[in-house]
Amino acid sequence: MTEQPRMNVESFNLDHRTVAAPYLRIADRKELPGGDVLTKFDVRFTQPNLEHLDTETVHSLEHMMAEHMRNHSEDVLDVSPMGCRTGFYVLLSGDRTVEGFAPVLEATLRDLLAADEVPAANEIQCGWGAHHSLEGAQRAAREFLDQRSVWDRVTAD
Ligand SMILES: [Zn+2]
Repeated sequence: MTEQPRMNVESFNLDHRTVAAPYLRIADRKELPGGDVLTKFDVRFTQPNLEHLDTETVHSLEHMMAEHMRNHSEDVLDVSPMGCRTGFYVLLSGDRTVEGFAPVLEATLRDLLAADEVPAANEIQCGWGAHHSLEGAQRAAREFLDQRSVWDRVTAD
């Protein structure tokens, strides 16, 4: 592949062949006109272009991280799945570091392992209430947690 032109989206400028999932990295940091800062994390569960999560697993991880993470931080603005199904973006208010956010993510995933249901997995609170897998979400969370010591290692090198 030849050199790509600079893209607007930060992750489009990331060479996905060079990363070593699972990992946690800052994808964006934005200072707002009032001086407040937002930090966006790339929470990568599976190796790009080699593996991806099942869609039920992605959906349940989304629900569970979105709900449980807010018990560990007042500053969570958004938890969104990547369309490629290899991970999630988490947006927080404030100027964050990987070292600062990792314990929040770890605590969230430990809650997820202890949970006995996917929150809001019903047709009143969700757009596809039947499309969930608690087991899949817990398996993916366990595998991600097993690699906790290398979350800050983003590239294979
Ligand atoms: Zn849903």
